[in-house]
Amino acid sequence: MKTAVFSARRYDQSLLTQANARAGHQLVFIQDRLTADTARLAEGCAAVCVFVNDSVNASVLAQLHAQGTRIVATRSTGYNHIDAAAAEKLGIAVVRVTDYSPHSVAEFAVGLLLAVNRKIARASARTRDGNFELEGLMGFDLHGKTVGVIGTGKIGAIFARILHGFGCTLLGHDVTPNPAFEALGGRYVGVPELMAASDVISLHCPLFESTHHIVNAQSLAGVKRGALLVNTSRGGLVDTEAAIQALKTGQLGGLAIDVYEQEASLFFQDLSSTVITDDVIQRLVSFPNVVVTGHQAFFTVEAIGQIMATTIASLSDFEAGRPLHHRVPEG
Ligand code: NAD
Repeated sequence: MKTAVFSARRYDQSLLTQANARAGHQLVFIQDRLTADTARLAEGCAAVCVFVNDSVNASVLAQLHAQGTRIVATRSTGYNHIDAAAAEKLGIAVVRVTDYSPHSVAEFAVGLLLAVNRKIARASARTRDGNFELEGLMGFDLHGKTVGVIGTGKIGAIFARILHGFGCTLLGHDVTPNPAFEALGGRYVGVPELMAASDVISLHCPLFESTHHIVNAQSLAGVKRGALLVNTSRGGLVDTEAAIQALKTGQLGGLAIDVYEQEASLFFQDLSSTVITDDVIQRLVSFPNVVVTGHQAFFTVEAIGQIMATTIASLSDFEAGRPLHHRVPEG
């Protein structure tokens, strides 16, 4: 099946090609993001394969449909970049990758937590510059601290299990309790109680209208003073301006993010030779107690291999008229 693959980096191209070796779909790699301006590049492609910062809104979907597209496959778990209801109306199937190494993201979230708490990136930069001073590098033991996990699904539960191993007390917030979280001794509470009691807050719920800016000025006013916030889920969960204010007052003791509300125009590209006009991200990276990475939590050999294999399998199932196992729930 002819498939336009948007946001195709070199690793996407080589790994998707490998995964496609037996299936034999005709893959057309496009480096650009899918937008209203680039949708025409998928002319005649029955399938379109996208990633997290492609904008698959109602008008783009209508254009894709008019050009012959009948399935959109996202190489991600999150699907907030796709208007699933509009796709359903047009009769375009939408599939995602529900089961790829949740360890990749959970382990990275722990890495970010350690990096921001123990100032590992700052320390490494210092020693490269011949500075072996410890001033300003003090962190705190995670052992004995309270960790609040918002979204205790696959990734959140693994994150919780790792932190349980560190000797942390676990609080959770979720619309659907997970027995695996409770088996670790995790206790479900409301967001205000979680914010007030946690030394570390880690976000692992999807971005929905109901979770947009779940961390905002009001909820940040209620956090335990000096708490660390980790976000590896979606940028839109955090009101970034409010987080900056909380960092300035010391209400937040540190912030570690792999995702950012306005990441679409920044992430997955080398902008090191350009003037970055996004003042919010520039302000964020200027804080000594902020760690920013560019949406790489999923980026392990295991996870990418599964993402590519599942994506190709979904395309083959669709082409053969078989049931789709990873269909996105309707909007
Ligand atoms: P999952 O579906 O297994 O878990 C999500 C959990 O969030 C579920 O338990 C669900 O009940 C809960 N939830 C839904 N609405 C909620 C709400 N209003 N409040 C609290 N909890 C709520 O998904 P997962 O595989 O654990 O992935 C979680 C998220 O991680 C994805 O949605 C995606 O945004 C993000 N993610 C990020 C990366 C990355 O590279 N940074 C990679 C993969 C996934």
